[in-house]
Amino acid sequence: MKTFLRLTTIVRPYYLWMALAALIGFATTGSGIGLLVTSGYIIAKASLQPPLGALQLGIIGVRVFGIARGVLRYAERVVSHSTTFRILAKLRLWFYDAIEPLAPARLLYFKSGDLLQRVVDDIQSLENIYTRVLAPPFTALLVSTLMWLLLGTYSLQASLLLLFFHLLAGIAIPLIVITLGKGTQSGIMDLKTDQQVLAIDFLQGIGELKLYGKLPAHLAEMQCNEAKMLRLQHKNACIDGLHESLTGLLMNAAVIAILCALVPTLPKAGTNGIYLTVITFAVMASFEPFLSLPASMKNLEVDVRAGNRLFEILDAKPETAAPPEPASFPENHIIRAENLTFTYPGNHIRSLEKISFTVEPGRHIAIVGPSGAGKSTVTSLLMRFWNLPCGQLSIGGKDIGLFDPEEIRRNIALVSQRTYLFAETIRENLLLAKPDASDDELKDALTAAGLGCFTSRLDEWTGQHGMKLSGGERQRIAIARVLLQKAPIVILDEATANLDPITEKEVTGTLAAICRGNTLIAITHRLKAMERYDRIIVLEKGKISEQGSHDELMRKNGTYRRMWELQHSENPGRENDDA
Ligand code: ADP
Repeated sequence: MKTFLRLTTIVRPYYLWMALAALIGFATTGSGIGLLVTSGYIIAKASLQPPLGALQLGIIGVRVFGIARGVLRYAERVVSHSTTFRILAKLRLWFYDAIEPLAPARLLYFKSGDLLQRVVDDIQSLENIYTRVLAPPFTALLVSTLMWLLLGTYSLQASLLLLFFHLLAGIAIPLIVITLGKGTQSGIMDLKTDQQVLAIDFLQGIGELKLYGKLPAHLAEMQCNEAKMLRLQHKNACIDGLHESLTGLLMNAAVIAILCALVPTLPKAGTNGIYLTVITFAVMASFEPFLSLPASMKNLEVDVRAGNRLFEILDAKPETAAPPEPASFPENHIIRAENLTFTYPGNHIRSLEKISFTVEPGRHIAIVGPSGAGKSTVTSLLMRFWNLPCGQLSIGGKDIGLFDPEEIRRNIALVSQRTYLFAETIRENLLLAKPDASDDELKDALTAAGLGCFTSRLDEWTGQHGMKLSGGERQRIAIARVLLQKAPIVILDEATANLDPITEKEVTGTLAAICRGNTLIAITHRLKAMERYDRIIVLEKGKISEQGSHDELMRKNGTYRRMWELQHSENPGRENDDA
């Protein structure tokens, strides 16, 4: 109930549109009843063979109601769809506004298939909250009230009988249908979500599934899900059929009961018989709005579930938010970490423990250490993806929490191990870093990033996830983005880890050239060309074990030296690459 009320507040700005659509909907149903009633009147009256003029009123009625029904149905569709699309646009904006600040920290805990389901299916089901949930009961109530009043003027007894059958059709049958189908709709939705998650895993991991022989098991799981969904859909269809039959049965029962009540009261056949025909048709037509009531209740179940899932995102607090009066990014952007300690939510082991370091502007430092040492966690904290519960991290002497996270991300360029390219053109992928960049700027950035051959291919599609480009080309696009962003601080988080030695050497060289004058933090577990860094910080199990220049650390005979010797003894032929 709470969710439903919350959903109705979202559509509140469209109440006037909804009221207009409901009124037109009511007028459309009323015209349908009027058409049936006037047709019945003409047929019954004509059987008495009156002069043609006596049928004139009925003929006009058929024409008016017939035309009105078509025109009103069209108007109702236009208004209700326009309302639906307004609601859809609002829901989409509302959802994207809510989800954006949650990335990446909070979204780690959602599966991508599940998120996709929320963005597409859940919002889509909510867009119909007016047409499928709110409008049908409203129209049924209006039509019924009108019918009870009209019939009441002719016979109170018939009106009460109609009220009785309408209550059965409007309350009892939907309740039976809902009880029988309880959980069916949400079951279908849950299975759809599971299916989406499996489909995304299938599409993205088809290589691994094939490689490890898990493809048949994965497909079997998808088929099993599909079979469960079919069973639920079959049950749903059976319940729908039952409902239609019961409503039809009630409609006929209502006609017979009302006729039985009225016939004995007729003084004589003839003129009064015409009214009986008219009443019969009117009673039959008045059941039409009840046909959509169970569907409306089922949609309510779906919408409440979709609402709950969307509110879960909406109510999630972003990990980091801008302070009310954010500080401006300082010119002198010295980075200072003091006693940084960090544990990921749900993790018992500290990823960083009391680490302290300083990076002066323009300096190039490397953070090295084995996998899992906490190197990327330093990046995440600097980019303000996570809040810092313990210790101090400041830029230019100001605590990092004083800045708007967006401002930090504008001033710190990040090249990670896997550069994400959107399924767009090269131009669009570059404009991400600087939306107002001119073509010349884009071409200069590409040339400086070592992709001079791409300057004439700005409008070329990069393929899904940039698959039409090689790993080296994708990383070079990331370098071009850094150039366009013109950020004073650059973080390279294992930026060349996925590249072959020759491309790695080329890309590293390009990066070193373009970062001259910038503050650079390079995170790596591979000790290549380490002499070019002013200082190297060695992380082990979340703690700094050593700090110093390459030569100092080599003299120390500690972890760094052991790592360096191990890596270089394994690849003696590649030592020359380091220069
Ligand atoms: P590195 O970059 O040195 O390989 P990370 O900084 O990625 O290491 O990870 C340090 C530790 O934090 C690891 O033990 C890892 O399992 C854990 N960790 C990293 N990201 C998360 C996360 N989102 N949730 C929970 N634990 C995480």
